[in-house]
Amino acid sequence: MFLRSLQWRLIIIIATITFILMSVIWVFLTYKVEDIFYNDFKGTISRNYATLNINSNMSAEELISKLEDDPVILSQLVSEVKSYTIINADTLEIVYSSDALYGKDKIEFRNEILKSENLMSVINGNAVGERKTVTKSQSGDFYDYVKRQPLLDGDYVLFFKYNRSQAIAIIKEFNNAILIGMILAVAVAVIIGFLLSRTITKPITDITKKAESITSGDFDQVLEVKSDDEIGKLTGTFNYMASQLKSMLSEISNEKNKFEMILNYMTDGIIAFNRNGHIIHINTAAAAFLESEKPDQTFTDITKVLNVPYTLHELLSSKNLSDISCSVQIRNMFLKIQFAAFTDKENNVDGIIMVLQDNTKEYKLNNMRKEFVANVSHELKTPLTSIKSYSETLLDGVIEDTETARNFVRVIYSESNRMDRIVKDLLLLSKHDSGIKLNFQRISPVELIHSVVEQLRLSVREKEQRLNIYSDENISDIYGDRDRLEQLFLNVIGNAIKYTPEHGIITVHVGHQKNGVSVKVIDTGIGIPEKDLERIFERFYRVDKARSRQLGGTGLGLSIAKEIAESHGGTIQAKSKLRKGTEITVFLPVNDKNSM
Ligand code: ADP
Repeated sequence: MFLRSLQWRLIIIIATITFILMSVIWVFLTYKVEDIFYNDFKGTISRNYATLNINSNMSAEELISKLEDDPVILSQLVSEVKSYTIINADTLEIVYSSDALYGKDKIEFRNEILKSENLMSVINGNAVGERKTVTKSQSGDFYDYVKRQPLLDGDYVLFFKYNRSQAIAIIKEFNNAILIGMILAVAVAVIIGFLLSRTITKPITDITKKAESITSGDFDQVLEVKSDDEIGKLTGTFNYMASQLKSMLSEISNEKNKFEMILNYMTDGIIAFNRNGHIIHINTAAAAFLESEKPDQTFTDITKVLNVPYTLHELLSSKNLSDISCSVQIRNMFLKIQFAAFTDKENNVDGIIMVLQDNTKEYKLNNMRKEFVANVSHELKTPLTSIKSYSETLLDGVIEDTETARNFVRVIYSESNRMDRIVKDLLLLSKHDSGIKLNFQRISPVELIHSVVEQLRLSVREKEQRLNIYSDENISDIYGDRDRLEQLFLNVIGNAIKYTPEHGIITVHVGHQKNGVSVKVIDTGIGIPEKDLERIFERFYRVDKARSRQLGGTGLGLSIAKEIAESHGGTIQAKSKLRKGTEITVFLPVNDKNSM
């Protein structure tokens, strides 16, 4: 395991190199020690050979006795491990030997020395055999130095033998010393390697730690540049890279935040899916549409909830994704769904963006418009049919009967009046829809109500109803369009008269209200069922169509009243109890003229 660490690897490399170097030196020195030994042995012989004064005028016997007494030979060439032997070169007969083995076993000694390469070469004619070769022998390996010496009675060979055991003993000791040296050297190498490698690995470890903290998002530690070498440069570059990364990342995260803010403030829902259909991003609007913030939902989950008729595969493989859209309903909302693809660097489709647009308003408006056109046509069709059939009958001859003809014409007149009222009301509404310019003036609400009631007095009297007006003291004036407000109250008070039977009581109360004036119109009439109450302000909505028509109603009165109240910044509300009566409250703010 530790071999994976750079520091240990460096230590091992240094230790191994030291070990190899020491081993080479060891082998070389061991070889050299044997060399020194042999050269010393050889040097001693060749150095002393001349001083021995051996010459060809000597006989073999003379030579033997000379050597036996020679102090040089005795001190330097004869010992437990050194010996000399004189051999007859022609007969190979050993004439003398100082060797201990010769004393013990002449034949074995002879066999042993005859293995010597140097001896053989001299026997074969060479003058000297001085190669450092070790001759293996049972009585101990040996080196030798051999010299041919012509004497009076023929050629002789001087064989100097040096038992290797002494050299081996010294080499052994030498080996022990080198082994200890080697252990020490490797130990020192390990220590030096450790210190040396620390100087390399420490900055690397520091950089690694810093890289780890960068990975976890901490960019603020700066590494100290301690040297000018490669490691120093690496540290410097690393610091620069960290600062660059920090600024780039903060730029990216700023952009991301901005982007997310924009997405979250968008009213359209946006959901981004990756190729596998997992949500990558969902903005607030989309989560609200789906009533979920579960990010683990997939494309399939969402299309199932929304009833989207496309699969992810279809969309991913579609060529004209922008042409694909669908409208779906979720709860009471109508959503238009469109798609777009986002691509990677190679321009391959990497995912799908789903855009959810809330079309509820448009959808409802569209429906209302359709309903309105149908209603208008229907409302106009009834009087038109009457007019048409009555005039046809008149043309067909009923005209002769003056009284019937008069009745018919009366019906035609009343039906055309009805159409006129509908068209007038529609025109009024249309004016409001297209933003009518109001003619603002200061108005006293109490005086306005009195004037409206005055116009309705006749109807009140006809039905023998009682109509009372009450008002709080000091009602503030309001700013408004007098004609419009008159229209508003004519409609509301008119309804109260219309839908209250004879002898009923109608009360109009003008009172203070926070920031405005309220006008309550309370009647004791037929009332409105609970379920219809919130719909009576819709165009053409009537609780009882036949009764309304009979009373000359168009079904537009309260919607006009609502438009007028709202165009003055006010409200209109209804409370009612069936068969007990109705209370319509109009609130009008006391506005500064200029603020309108
Ligand atoms: P209409 O022309 O039919 O009166 P409106 O828009 O003025 O149309 O009123 C809508 C419907 O509300 C009426 O048809 C009627 O059914 C009901 N309504 C309005 N005012 C009253 C009231 N004071 N009492 C009972 N029902 C009323």
